[in-house]
Amino acid sequence: MPRESLAKKRERALAVAERMNEHFPAAECALHFDGDPFRLTIAVLLSAQTTDAGVNKVTPELWERYPTPADLAAADVSDVERILRPIGFFHTKAANCIKCAQMIVGEFGGEVPHTFEELERLPGVGHKTANIVLNTGFGIVEGIAVDTHVFRVAHRLKLSNATQPLDTEQDLLKIYPREYWGPINHQWVLFGRQVCTARNPSCETCFLADICPSFGKAETTPKKRTAKGKKPAKKTAKKSAARSKKASAAKPADKAKNTPTQ
Ligand code: SF4
Repeated sequence: MPRESLAKKRERALAVAERMNEHFPAAECALHFDGDPFRLTIAVLLSAQTTDAGVNKVTPELWERYPTPADLAAADVSDVERILRPIGFFHTKAANCIKCAQMIVGEFGGEVPHTFEELERLPGVGHKTANIVLNTGFGIVEGIAVDTHVFRVAHRLKLSNATQPLDTEQDLLKIYPREYWGPINHQWVLFGRQVCTARNPSCETCFLADICPSFGKAETTPKKRTAKGKKPAKKTAKKSAARSKKASAAKPADKAKNTPTQ
C-alpha cells in the first residue's frame, strides 16, 4: 500500500466508524453484569485468556454465593476456585477476585472507583479492564480498550502498526476524535468475531473491503496436519512454509509478541 497521509488515514478511519455504526448500532458488552460496576469489574478480570461466553457460565453462581464486594472479600479462596475452575487460570483469578473485592471494601468504601489511577490499583485490573469499567460501567470515556479483536482489526486496517496494545490505543486516540472513542471497543469486538476473524476473515463479504489495505491478504488458515505425530511430506511442508511466510508478511499484527488477550 502506498504511504498514506494522516489526513487520508483519518478520512478512512471515520468511514470505518460510520460503517461500524450502521452495522453494529447497538453493540454492547457481551459479559453479563446486571448493570453493576462491581460485577463488571470482576467479569472483565475473569475474561483474560478466556471467552466472554465462558465467563458468563460461571458468574451466575459466583454472584449467587457472593452478591456484594463485602461477600466476595470474605470468601474462602477454595470455594471461589471451585466456581472458576472451568475458565482456566482459576487459582490466580480466584485470588485476584478476592483481593480486588477486599481493596474495594477496604479502600473505596465498597464502591468501584471511577478513575484510571484508582482502578489500575485493584489486583487483576489492568489498563484495558479499567477502560472497559469506566466506559461500560460508568459511561466515562477516557480511552479505547484494546483487546485481541481491536488490536487485530486496527492492524489489518493499518490504523496502527504498534506492537503493544497500549501503543495501539494511543494510535487510535490520535486518529479518532474523542466523540468516536466510546463505541469502538464493543463494535470492533463484534466485527472481529463475526467478520474479521483471526483465521479466515470474510474479506469477500466484508463491508470495509473497499477501504481495507489487508483485503484478501489476511488469511491465516492453519497448516493441515497429517495423522498425529507424523510430519507432513517434504513437498507439503515446503509449500506450507511458503504460504506461511506470505501470510506473515501480509499480517504484521499477528507476528507481534505479547498480543493482547480478550
Ligand atoms: S477486508 Fe478482510 S482483512 Fe479487511 S477488515 Fe474486512 S475482513 Fe478484515
